Order: sequence, then C-alpha cells, then structure tokens
Amino acid sequence: MPAMERRGMMLILSSPSGAGKSTLTRQLVADQSDISLSISVTTRPKRPSEIEGKHYHFMSVAAFKAMRDRNELLESAEVHGNFYGTPRRAVETALAAGRDVLFDIDWQGTRQIMARMRRDVVAVFILPPSMAELQHRLERRAEDNAETIARRLGNARDEIAQWGLYDYLIVNDDLEAAFYSVKAILAAERLKRDRLVGAPGFVDRLLKI
Ligand code: 5GP
Repeated sequence: MPAMERRGMMLILSSPSGAGKSTLTRQLVADQSDISLSISVTTRPKRPSEIEGKHYHFMSVAAFKAMRDRNELLESAEVHGNFYGTPRRAVETALAAGRDVLFDIDWQGTRQIMARMRRDVVAVFILPPSMAELQHRLERRAEDNAETIARRLGNARDEIAQWGLYDYLIVNDDLEAAFYSVKAILAAERLKRDRLVGAPGFVDRLLKI
C-alpha cells in the first residue's frame, strides 16, 4: 500500500529514428514493473525482428482508418508515409488503475495528447549527439533499405526542430547515462504534489496524531 495514492502519468519519449529511443523504452519497461507500454497501431510493414502485438499492432490502411473513425485512437499521425496511432482503451484502463503509461510516439502525437491532458503528460525528447552519429546508427541497424534510411534522415531534421514542445531534453551520447536520466525524470515526476491525490488525506492523518 503506497503512503500516498497517486494519479497515473503519461510519459512520452520522442526522437528521430536512430536516436536510441526504442532501446530506452525497452530498458524502462524491463526495469519498472509499474509502467505499461502503449502498443501503437501502424500501417507500416513489419520489420523482420518485430512481433505483432509486442512492438505494434500491424494493420491495413482501411482497418486503421476504421479505428480512427470510431474514435478509438487517442492520437494519430502520418510518419514517414505510414499511419500510426495510440489505441485509447488500453491507456485509459492503465491510468484508471493508477499505472503510468509509456509512449514511443512522435511530436504530432505528443502535441495532440498534450492538448487534451497536459497536466498528466511528461514529454521527453531524445537527441542524437550529432547528425553523423544518427546516420551511422540508422545504417548499422540495417533493417531498412537505403531509400528508407535516406527518407528518415531527411525527416530527422524536421523532427528535431520540434524540440521546444518537450518538457525534458536528453542528448543520448551514452546509453547508460541517458537511461539514468529517464529514470531520474520518472522518479521526480512521480513525486509532483499535483499527482499525489492522496496527499491531503495523508497530511490530515499525519497531523491528527
Ligand atoms: P518506427 O516506424 O521507426 O517504429 O517509428 C517511426 C516513428 O513513429 C517514431 O518516431 C515513433 O515514435 C512514431 N510512432 C510510433 N507509434 C506512434 C503512434 O502511435 N503515434 C504517433 N504519433 N507516432 C508514433
């Protein structure tokens, strides 16, 4: 039983492809038992290493648009020529249970979620140490073809330009240090007075004795 009941928060990690966000997301989910990862829907073709339902729910454009039209997506965006969206129900269920939810989404989705639920959002932008290093990481991943890599690099500049939307910036030149920074943000944000809905009751009980 926690000393103080807390409202769940929405922790958003964004970055251009190749800045290390997927690794940080994976590490955070493995490290934190009380955080749920939001699994997005996408019309992008599955990469060989990806698993349906774990990395994404892969679907046709028609199925995606049907979900969007039924208002089942909390946010949605077109990224690199494919559609992506966050299923609403899983997020609402987790937040209602007091769990934190982690999102690996782009700035367009971040802006949409912020517009609706700003005080529950903590948005972190991961920057690469240099554009050369970003290109190197994309090439090393080798899961995408040359055309895709070139398009992602071009888009990276536009994505980086959105840094001002975010609450926190992390330059990922060392994965361990970047992970530590994300955990520090999470730990501090969990102690924000506004999120501690149990605080008035706790202090009342404290002062009664
Ligand atoms: P990738 O295709 O490399 O997995 O992801 C491409 C980009 O789409 C990444 O920047 C990722 O954060 C973003 N993305 C993934 N899922 C969603 C989503 O549900 N909504 C939005 N807005 N962006 C997403």
